[in-house]
Amino acid sequence: MDYLAAPVAKLIEEFSKLPGIGKKTAQRLAFHVLNMSESNANDLAKAIVSAKKNIKYCSICTNLTDIDPCNICRNKKRDQTSICVVEDPRDVIAMERIREYNGLYHVLHGSISPMEGIGPEQIKIKELLNRIRESKDIKEIILATNPTIEGEATAMYISKLIKPLGIKTTRIAHGIPVGGDLEYADEVTLSKALEGRRDI
Ligand SMILES: [Zn+2]
Repeated sequence: MDYLAAPVAKLIEEFSKLPGIGKKTAQRLAFHVLNMSESNANDLAKAIVSAKKNIKYCSICTNLTDIDPCNICRNKKRDQTSICVVEDPRDVIAMERIREYNGLYHVLHGSISPMEGIGPEQIKIKELLNRIRESKDIKEIILATNPTIEGEATAMYISKLIKPLGIKTTRIAHGIPVGGDLEYADEVTLSKALEGRRDI
C-alpha cells in the first residue's frame, strides 16, 4: 500500500483485525479517526488502553470488572441462592437487560469444544465447583450456556459434576433458536427461556 502514508496503513491494518470489520470499514474508521479533533482521538486511544489495563476477572464470578469483587457479587440485595452460568461476559449483559433475574452469575469464558481443542479445564468450570463447595447459600444453578452443540455439551458436563453435590440444576428452555447465541436473543425470548427452565 505505497499510496498510503505508513501511519494510515497501520491504522487501517489494526482496525481490520477487529471482528466484523472488513477492509472497507477499516478504511472508513481510519479516515474518521484522522478527521477527529486531537482531543477526541486521544480520548479514544486512552479509553482502549485504560479498559485493557484496568479490567480483570472478578475473583468470585470471573466476569470482567474494574473492582474485585465485581458490582454484582458485592451486591447483597441480589439473591445469593442462585448462580446463572453463562459462556461470555456479554451474556451477563443480555440477562441483566431482561431485568427478571436477580441472582448471581458465573462466567465460563467459553464452552467445551473438542473440535477446537477446548477441554473442560480450559474454561472456568473448576472455579464454579470451588465456589459451590465453599458456599452454603447456593440452592440453584441455572445453566444458561448457548443452545449450540458446544453449549449443550458444556451444560451436560457441568450438571453431571454438580448433581452429586445435591444442588438443584436447571437448564434454560429452548426459546432461543438452536445454534443461536444468548447475546443476540431478544428480551422476550430470553425471558421466556429463563422462565421455562427445567431440571436436568
Ligand atoms: Zn463477580
